[in-house]
Amino acid sequence: MFYLVFTVDGDWKEYFNINLPEEERLPEKEFMQKLIEQEIEVADRLLDGKLLHFIHASPRVRDFFLKEPFLGLWKRIVEGRGDIGVHCHEDDPYKEYYFRDTERMKEVISQQVKVLNQNGLNPRSYRGGWLIFSNELTPVLEENGLEFDFSCEPDRYLVQEDKVLSDWRGAPKSLYRLSYEDYKKPGGSRVFEVPVGVAKGKYLYFEKSGVKELEEIALVLKEESEKESKDVIVSVLTHSYEYKTTGEIENISDKISVLKEFGRFINIKELSEIINKQ
Ligand SMILES: [Zn+2]
Repeated sequence: MFYLVFTVDGDWKEYFNINLPEEERLPEKEFMQKLIEQEIEVADRLLDGKLLHFIHASPRVRDFFLKEPFLGLWKRIVEGRGDIGVHCHEDDPYKEYYFRDTERMKEVISQQVKVLNQNGLNPRSYRGGWLIFSNELTPVLEENGLEFDFSCEPDRYLVQEDKVLSDWRGAPKSLYRLSYEDYKKPGGSRVFEVPVGVAKGKYLYFEKSGVKELEEIALVLKEESEKESKDVIVSVLTHSYEYKTTGEIENISDKISVLKEFGRFINIKELSEIINKQ
């Protein structure tokens, strides 16, 4: 079967805009609340509520999304068959990246999980900002009960000023268990990788692919799962800032509807069940 996990990274545009004054780069409460409510509306209408929202946390915004009204929204997602995950942006975009500082990553990830746990929320998924990952993170995810990593975009190679930020060259194109020694290879850790769907060099990444391209990718993945009678399990990537206008929401809705013709959208509970049956 061909399975898809629908994800939303909880970022806003201004966070990445280095030309804005500092105060304008911070998120605005009512505005973010509206965007997330739109995500939920789309997921309820088209995906039976199955949405995995990755909660943004960064040095600029340490616990903004770990307070009301957001805690209430996370609960609504979980109660509606959706899931929440941890999205660490341990960076100052285009200036500093702290993802290789394992002690720091350990601290920020466990702190975020702890606060969510204290509020009755149990995230099981992680996605690194900029889709950054490293071998050192695998045990950190294990220690925090984060069994699923969604940082993989197969063949991504992101370099900024000679610094390699994200490297997924040669990674598998469907769900695999991370190797402790090399996160780009299948192995024996307790963390499963769910890559962004890819075919013909194009991704199930709504900002980067149009309806036609998404259709082509989905067809390839579906045929692959049928031909080899195996499960193909991938993720679909969107961002909170894409849920602003009616036009954007219609575009997202159209894209979801197309993908639904090819594969089955699942939540984390269903994903676990599928893995356990394999
Ligand atoms: Zn992000």
